[in-house]
Amino acid sequence: MGSAGRADILANYHRVLQQIEDAAASVGRNPQTIKLVVVTKGHPVQSVHLALEAGIRVFGENYAEEGVAKKLACIGTPGIEWHMIGHVQSRKAGQVCQHFDWVHSLDSLKLAQRLDRFAAEYGRRIPVLLECNVSGEDSKFGWAAWDETRWEALLAAISQIASLPGLELRGLMTMAPFYDDPEPARPHFQRLRCLRDFFRQNLPEAHWDELSMGMSGDFTVAIQEGATMVRIGSAILGPRPKA
Ligand SMILES: *Cc1c(COP(=O)(O)O)cnc(C)c1O
Repeated sequence: MGSAGRADILANYHRVLQQIEDAAASVGRNPQTIKLVVVTKGHPVQSVHLALEAGIRVFGENYAEEGVAKKLACIGTPGIEWHMIGHVQSRKAGQVCQHFDWVHSLDSLKLAQRLDRFAAEYGRRIPVLLECNVSGEDSKFGWAAWDETRWEALLAAISQIASLPGLELRGLMTMAPFYDDPEPARPHFQRLRCLRDFFRQNLPEAHWDELSMGMSGDFTVAIQEGATMVRIGSAILGPRPKA
């Protein structure tokens, strides 16, 4: 088992688009308001080329170098977006700032301040999402937000992030725990949406219009709970090849 071939990627992509449309319709949402980010981490550059042939233009990567290498391999194709969705180490902040269009995984004030400095250097304003840990799993990065009593304590740092000129704070991101079935992920997505409403109320200076939630196993439920971005890898590109 490994990365899917040309015909499978095309078929998988169209099946996922249909599932996004159906999930949106099930709650009366417009599917155009949901962005599909295709996660290429762990797949070879060849998978990115096949995805481009299938019409995919929005990609997510977890590691800066891997993403930059793939970006440079696609330099001839216009209109591609690269989303950083993995934990960013401080020393990678410059590379992320230079090459990525979005950062979903902003998980500390320190990283925000570093990204802001590089944004000034590169003359950019980078749209960012705060990665939030709403499940309490200790394997997860993100702002500690698994119960409401912790939310107030986040406001001071988030308010500082909202005021950084090089960043454009747009919303929240989360990863639900892994389950065999999408339904148990629903309360985690609901909690992220409530947290977004809390920030919107308390820090109206930021936009709070984006919710990045939902992966291959749970994106239909995430869309029902308000996802505006879903991050899907294996359902389109196949299982990640073993390193
Ligand atoms: C790997 C990854 C995904 C995609 O996972 P799949 O289960 O392959 O769809 C989405 N988001 C993040 C943060 C990831 O690390």
